[in-house]
Amino acid sequence: MPYNTYPYEIPPLPYAYDALEPYIDTETMRYHHDKHFASYANNLNYALRTYPTLQALTLRQLLSAAAPLPRGERQIILNNAGGVYNHFFYFSHLAPAGEGNHLPSGELAGLINSAYGSYEELKRKMSALAMNVFGSGWTVLALSENRNNIGIINLKDQDTVVPSGLTPVIMLDAWEHAYYLKHKNDRKAYIEAFWNVVSYPQT
Ligand code: MN
Repeated sequence: MPYNTYPYEIPPLPYAYDALEPYIDTETMRYHHDKHFASYANNLNYALRTYPTLQALTLRQLLSAAAPLPRGERQIILNNAGGVYNHFFYFSHLAPAGEGNHLPSGELAGLINSAYGSYEELKRKMSALAMNVFGSGWTVLALSENRNNIGIINLKDQDTVVPSGLTPVIMLDAWEHAYYLKHKNDRKAYIEAFWNVVSYPQT
């Protein structure tokens, strides 16, 4: 993935702020990308400013269980590095309705059918899991290390799949900041809208 070394700089949105309307609103996209996502990168840069050894790592190395993080700043580094990593996947796997790959294809479609029987069943299971995120967190469709298996997991706060060796396919941001401006407390409506603009990697 690009933009994955210090100093971290968030990529511009690969579409217009209003391109996901009416599913994800313009104001949410502006705050979510320009403020929330950018803050994670800025805070991470600040936390790493005095650690040249950590600056030399890639984002995934920084998030791995083996990263030599200083004890006092370990959680702040993980939170912000996780925010950068997770949001990179979130924004790059959304696309305007009518553009992008809104349906899984190729090998990915095969893995989904093997694991869930159908794409509809995957969406049903992933939506239900996202409704179960208590507080702030994510629901992730992820590939195993050997890329032979696919599964859905919930992550708390800005935890990532990296320590488990998984690679995200798509990420559903279940933090209130992802939907509250438009949907208020109705997370279910946001999740239903999300499926119209999610965009799968081509495999
Ligand atoms: Mn977010």
